[in-house]
Amino acid sequence: MKTYWLIALVLMLAPSLRAQETARLSAEDIDAILFMREEEKLARDAYELFYVKWGVNPFGHIRFSEQNHMDQVKTLIVSYKLEDPIEKTADEPGKFENGQLQNLYAEVVKEGSTSMMAGLKTGALIEEIDILDLDARMARSQNADIRRVFSYLKRASENHLNAFVRKLKVNGVDYNPVKMNKKQFDEILGGNERGCCRAK
Ligand code: MN
Ligand code: MN
Repeated sequence: MKTYWLIALVLMLAPSLRAQETARLSAEDIDAILFMREEEKLARDAYELFYVKWGVNPFGHIRFSEQNHMDQVKTLIVSYKLEDPIEKTADEPGKFENGQLQNLYAEVVKEGSTSMMAGLKTGALIEEIDILDLDARMARSQNADIRRVFSYLKRASENHLNAFVRKLKVNGVDYNPVKMNKKQFDEILGGNERGCCRAK
């Protein structure tokens, strides 16, 4: 009998516990999730377009990684029962609910379509912006789920930034950071060299 009442109590409380879970998201957290969901889409859509246009890596393989990042953010949207902005646009390539991202997409596509090198530089710029946005959003969030997903996305963006900079370098182009300060940029590039494959 006691067990019965305990189960009944848990069932009664369960909906309000779930409601509290959602309430733990601040307005900024919600905004961060919805924004990053579309910013990862911006990267995927731009790389897809550049891959069709220029036919080179890293666009080819990184676009799949961006789809994975969109999926990671989607898990946050589902678990916190938010409205997915990408459902509203039916995931149409190059279409965004967020006006700022819609404008950024137009800019990067215009710039990256002028030449293959411009395309690769635009890829590096997109990764710079992604890293800075993730940093800013993580700094303002106490939510463990957001920090876990965003730090995973950030590590991937650092690898992508490296890939674009290396690709430019083998083509004789030195890439200088556009949005990020030089110190953070050098740390990201140096960090990768230490972490991988390179003899001292
Ligand atoms: Mn990404
Ligand atoms: Mn990326």
